[in-house]
Amino acid sequence: MIETLKKYALENNIPIILDDGIEFIENYIKTHNIKTILEIGTAIGYSSIRMALINSNIKITTIERNELLYKEAIKNINKFNFNKQINVIYDDAFNVQLKDKFDLIFIDSSKAQYIKIFEKFKGNLNDKGAIITDNLNFHGLVKDYDNIKSKDLRQLVGKIKNFISFLKNNKEFKTIFYDIGDGISISERC
Ligand code: MG
Repeated sequence: MIETLKKYALENNIPIILDDGIEFIENYIKTHNIKTILEIGTAIGYSSIRMALINSNIKITTIERNELLYKEAIKNINKFNFNKQINVIYDDAFNVQLKDKFDLIFIDSSKAQYIKIFEKFKGNLNDKGAIITDNLNFHGLVKDYDNIKSKDLRQLVGKIKNFISFLKNNKEFKTIFYDIGDGISISERC
């Protein structure tokens, strides 16, 4: 059934995480015994469902601001009977105030906002937790920045480059970058 979901995303041009990217994260969740996850950027619920499938003790809170995607995510999560394991919040992440602490925060939202999202939610991370971000290669464009013709695209990719520098220079978090999927980082408190 997860394959059907993947097919739907591909057919409707909805970006979902690449196979080796999600497998890498699933492995991190298993080896670090992650129980609580906050995801920023639900899209159609694909990654949430993949993470919830690992085991029934995993609880996920996920935030989506796009109404159509939110509705699609709810539909999919209900199909998998994961409505107790996955809580979808329909709002802009910047409006969401959470008191809970999470073992893992997965940032997969609007790429232009990554620094702000990281700063906003780092307080919701457990002391030993990790913040994972996706799409740091941005389909290879980060490496190819100088050849990007479109101004808007340059601006967006520039923001991802800034986020990478922000992580590299961060005194509070130590980050390891992985050339897996579309580029993944794992940040843990120093
Ligand atoms: Mg992504």
